[in-house]
Amino acid sequence: MRRKLAAGNWKMHGTGADLAEIATLARTHADPACEVLICPPATLIERAAREVRGSALMIGAQDCHSAPQGAHTGDISAAMIRDAGAGHVILGHSERRQDHAETSAVVHAKATAALHAGLITIICLGETLADRERGATLDVIGQQLAGSTPDAARGENTVIAYEPVWAIGSGHVAHPDQIAEVHGFLRERLAHRFGTGVAAMIRLLYGGSVKPANAAGIFAIPDVDGALVGGASLRAESFSPVISALE
Ligand code: PGA
Repeated sequence: MRRKLAAGNWKMHGTGADLAEIATLARTHADPACEVLICPPATLIERAAREVRGSALMIGAQDCHSAPQGAHTGDISAAMIRDAGAGHVILGHSERRQDHAETSAVVHAKATAALHAGLITIICLGETLADRERGATLDVIGQQLAGSTPDAARGENTVIAYEPVWAIGSGHVAHPDQIAEVHGFLRERLAHRFGTGVAAMIRLLYGGSVKPANAAGIFAIPDVDGALVGGASLRAESFSPVISALE
């Protein structure tokens, strides 16, 4: 019922030369049993979208502004992302929450704008190590989920990514019990707010040091519908086995 999703987040990596990785993925996963999404930097969206044309691969962005247009130097709107050929946008990544002081209210406004423009949103949340150590993980996750997710969220337009901040780029993947606990909690909170039917259709991704060696184990955890992958998504040779583990 929930289609699995392997999403790659290139962050601030990649120039035109790296489009070859996307071309390789489009070729080797011509008919994937799961959805495959690459979110390159904004400068590459249009070229990446051209690269995947005619294949099953999809292209997304890593952020958007909450306004449809205006005096916002350096920002891009959801409609611009659509126009460039992307159908998804990652919002509220912990690096945006930290580096750009994005609150859940800001993420909510961006998600609302993205849904309005017809983009599928991937809303990220996750606790810091300090949150976990003081036993506040579910409180923090619950607040971020409630505060960041618009009322219009449905299975077809919204994906939630659980990314413990301490697991991102650190090589320390969360323990299966920790992932199962948070994903089960997310499903329950979504059911409480949107009803069990909608909650059963919203995909929950895990993110944080996912790589070929640990992907199959993570995907076997209940309520894990795929992954948001940073470092291992940059090269086809490392992202391809992650996709295969999900198929
Ligand atoms: P990582 O990043 O796979 O490099 O840990 C994941 C993410 O931040 O989305």
